[in-house]
Amino acid sequence: MGRREEKEEIKVEKCRDCNKVVSDTDAGILCELCESWFHATCQKISEDSYAFLKKNESMHWYCEICNRGVGKILQSLARMSKRRICWKNKCRKSVRKYER
Ligand SMILES: [Zn+2]
Ligand SMILES: [Zn+2]
Repeated sequence: MGRREEKEEIKVEKCRDCNKVVSDTDAGILCELCESWFHATCQKISEDSYAFLKKNESMHWYCEICNRGVGKILQSLARMSKRRICWKNKCRKSVRKYER
């Protein structure tokens, strides 16, 4: 980031839940999927969880809206990997062990 200048270029992030600005002083959190900002409070994230997420920046966080979608994706992925079976020599045994 460059120097802060008082231009109109400053991006105003609005909470997708309440549509109010998420300021620097607010506990804001960015959804990785829809790239929307939220107030931690709007997403009912406790202070503890928020502190945890802040500390672990590699943690993925999805908003409630995306979470529902992601949950479905993860579920179907899990189902798919369970279904993966070995077709070599028609042994048809599960190949999950050999997954990277
Ligand atoms: Zn909000
Ligand atoms: Zn989202």
